[in-house]
Amino acid sequence: MNDKWLKFKHLLKSSFFPQTCLLCSASKGEGFGICKNCLDDLPHHTSCCPQCGLLSFEGQLCGACIASPPDFNATKAAFTYEYPISQVLQQYKYNQQLFLAETFAELMLQKIQAQNIDLIIPMPLHPNRLQERGFNQSLEVSRIIGKHLNIRVNSQAVSRIKLSPPQASLPLKERVRNMKGPFICNEDLSVMRIALIDDVMTTGASLNALAKAVKAKGAAHVECWLIARTLAN
Ligand SMILES: [Zn+2]
Ligand SMILES: [Zn+2]
Repeated sequence: MNDKWLKFKHLLKSSFFPQTCLLCSASKGEGFGICKNCLDDLPHHTSCCPQCGLLSFEGQLCGACIASPPDFNATKAAFTYEYPISQVLQQYKYNQQLFLAETFAELMLQKIQAQNIDLIIPMPLHPNRLQERGFNQSLEVSRIIGKHLNIRVNSQAVSRIKLSPPQASLPLKERVRNMKGPFICNEDLSVMRIALIDDVMTTGASLNALAKAVKAKGAAHVECWLIARTLAN
């Protein structure tokens, strides 16, 4: 091995795996880059409705899900979308800090129990977005989780055909077309139990549309696995 290669390897290592805690940079980052103190202080997602992931009384099914259930059956999130998770997510998505995929995947694995899941489908990015960003943040996390849990990941099963701009900004003809849904699913998913992985769920509209698309192809059960869930829509 020559010097150049060693130098390159060292560079790779130091840029991918920071030696200090990602959040306080004082303590040593542990297993996945965050020290024990900072980890305890993160906004953990608890006491929420098992179906939509919003706050609910003693973590029971909420009134909205009883009255009008979403197309997905369950929502599991590692965190609520608050500081500092919101900031770390921005770093990951917009500053290309890809080593954070490992951190988020590890944190999700600690919280999310997989029960008889056959397939993981990451939230697809529209091709224009993928080109802009250079990577799909949900796919990177899905790959690591799938490997750990030994669950197949299929990022080709669904494509995103629309960028989904806000409905109000579109002319009527476009609005009607937009209502057909932003996703196309090309695989037979009969009786499969599926986990959809996304970074953040806000209104849940995109994940609901994705769940609808995979259920239309026969999926029996659909869960949303998230890095973070916003609690106020
Ligand atoms: Zn720390
Ligand atoms: Zn609910």
